[in-house]
Amino acid sequence: MTDIRLTQVSKSYGRQRVLNAVTLDAAAGIVGLLGPNGAGKTTLLRILATVTAPDAGSVQLLGYDTGEPAARTEIRRRLGYVPQETGFPSGFTAFEYVDYVAILKEMTGRRARHDEVRRVLDVVGLTPVAGRRVRRLSGGMKRRLVIAQALLGDPRLLVLDEPTVGLDPEQRLRFRDTVSALAEDRCVIVSTHQTEDVAAFCPRVVVLHEGRVRFDGAPEDLAATATGRVWTADRRDPGARLAWRTSTGTLHQVGTPPPGATLADASLEDGYLLLVDAAQISPQTAVR
Ligand code: ADP
Repeated sequence: MTDIRLTQVSKSYGRQRVLNAVTLDAAAGIVGLLGPNGAGKTTLLRILATVTAPDAGSVQLLGYDTGEPAARTEIRRRLGYVPQETGFPSGFTAFEYVDYVAILKEMTGRRARHDEVRRVLDVVGLTPVAGRRVRRLSGGMKRRLVIAQALLGDPRLLVLDEPTVGLDPEQRLRFRDTVSALAEDRCVIVSTHQTEDVAAFCPRVVVLHEGRVRFDGAPEDLAATATGRVWTADRRDPGARLAWRTSTGTLHQVGTPPPGATLADASLEDGYLLLVDAAQISPQTAVR
């Protein structure tokens, strides 16, 4: 089944076109969404979470059309959403907060609901602090609490807007583990600024830039776009668009190498940087 089917979706705020004819299909599995700040990622995810409606184009989720109110309710019953910013009702404990969302999600049987709340808190490793007030949780714990509420009721579609912000490296690895297991029979779309997250656990990556899809494919194919354009040297070469010194002391350079340069393996990050950089200079040439 195609879980996400976006066709020519556009959205503007005032005179600014934030999404420009975005077409995207996705089924079970993880889609990593990359793009610089302002690219339109949050707007796209808000449309997928049925929080915002597009100005043009069609959005079909789980076989329902988001343009119809009754269909939106059906989608929301099957949707988990981690928004970029969340407020918490003050004074709730972690358990009470997730339980509150569970009630909003129409889980009426108290015992089954409490079991489900305990389950999702356990998945994100928050069982030990279930009784702690939300305002006393660390930033990483709060982020995991938001992930927990998104997992309530085993949603078929998970929309995660920068879920790993504020997580420490171990928590990020745990998050990868959790999401990878979930994605076996669910559709997960996750935005991030961490290119290494995408390389590690997203079989598919979509790069959004200035409201357009600039790349849609496997992470290794994004890396391959930079093959022959990454090299190392002791000093910065004129053809380098970007260069940084690595832990070994040499300069990792991305751009147009000089003749005879020592080429290096291209990573997803290199491909991403070149794509976004090229798009800034000449939007037409980078569109695939
Ligand atoms: P990203 O998540 O990739 O950083 P966003 O979707 O948040 O991108 O924003 C894309 C652009 O749309 C930005 O320039 C932002 O300022 C603008 N924007 C987003 N939401 C609104 C809004 N509610 N009202 C006006 N402008 C908005």
